Amino acid sequence: MSYNVNEKGYYGEFGGAYIPEMLYPNVEELRQQYLKITAEPDFIKEFDQLLKDYVGRPSPLYFAKRLSEKYETKIYLKREDLNHTGAHKINNTIGQILVAKKLGKKRIIAETGAGQHGVATATVCALMGLECIVYMGEIDIERQAPNVARMKMLGASVRPALSGSRTLKDATNEAIRDWINNPVDTHYIIGSAIGPHPYPDMVTRFQSIISEEIKWQLQEKEGRENPDFVVACIGGGSNAAGTFYHFLDQDQVGIIAVEAAGKGVNSGHSAATSKLGKVGIIHGCKTLLMQTPDGQITEPYSISAGLDYPGVGPMHAHLAQTGRAEFYSVTDDDAMESGLELCQLEGIIPAIESSHALAVLKERKFKPTDVVVICLSGRGDKDLNTYIDYFKL
Ligand SMILES: *Cc1c(COP(=O)(O)O)cnc(C)c1O
Repeated sequence: MSYNVNEKGYYGEFGGAYIPEMLYPNVEELRQQYLKITAEPDFIKEFDQLLKDYVGRPSPLYFAKRLSEKYETKIYLKREDLNHTGAHKINNTIGQILVAKKLGKKRIIAETGAGQHGVATATVCALMGLECIVYMGEIDIERQAPNVARMKMLGASVRPALSGSRTLKDATNEAIRDWINNPVDTHYIIGSAIGPHPYPDMVTRFQSIISEEIKWQLQEKEGRENPDFVVACIGGGSNAAGTFYHFLDQDQVGIIAVEAAGKGVNSGHSAATSKLGKVGIIHGCKTLLMQTPDGQITEPYSISAGLDYPGVGPMHAHLAQTGRAEFYSVTDDDAMESGLELCQLEGIIPAIESSHALAVLKERKFKPTDVVVICLSGRGDKDLNTYIDYFKL
């Protein structure tokens, strides 16, 4: 069985491009060009150079000694938190802005919920001197003031989405409307392994640098390329897709995906899509998403803004359906405890998203000889206020 995208843009029954007809030319141009462009030697050279000198790659693969002692297994952390801008998202925005330049685009649009993808997009637009417009729900603009300020400092204009629930899905609608109106000069940078084909595959390929590095780093440290398990949290699924990519077809590598259970899978305040989702269409692709019986998208909930998404990328829907990956759902409380534990055992303050991945250590027993690689997708600076409120610091 293949766990990668097929030539039609599907992972099993999931994926594809379910888009309004007026968007077809934009998406089709990208579909025809993305593999060709990203295989060109000068593209590869510039991408690699920027990942090295601007992002700071390779990110370390760190053996977490005290955490390993506590859980009686060998734990390595893939330190995406040390990247410029503090998370893995920059790997994707660098790749996409280089594609946009090759396509001759002058204007970049993006949507953002918590603002992390907006900041990563505004960053690369400043780097390349391209105009940047970020759509953001009006409610999110109020909730995420520091990221709005960052985007503005980086030269982006932040446009409020005023319709519907005034959150991420409304911002997405605005971005799509903009793209329809500006088909020639504009590229839409999607921030996770979601969207119409070719986005999930394109984003996955840019993030696959994570597992590419894990392989040679583990060879250096353990004398073998394959760990026994790779673990990552899933919002839309980009850090997970990048962490899993080079291990998808290695049967001996266990794949573990961690979703946000919020206040509990069945509490009505959750983002555990693999458990609660049904097949439907969101953001231009067929995948699992949380919806009412008549197909309305339900508002997800997680204490972590980056996991607060009602769907999951099509690759992960397929990994869940086929059983290739084990899926865990971690509550707010368990994630917060695991985040604090990492602070005190290793001196690393993780993003709350990443704390969800860490919490799997409490849920699942590993053998002492197992090598477990956990993607530490981001750092916790952005979450300090949430940590302060939660722990009454
Ligand atoms: C955005 C974000 C996530 C979730 O996004 P994915 O596309 O699922 O990776 C996870 N961790 C951090 C630190 C983030 O900023």
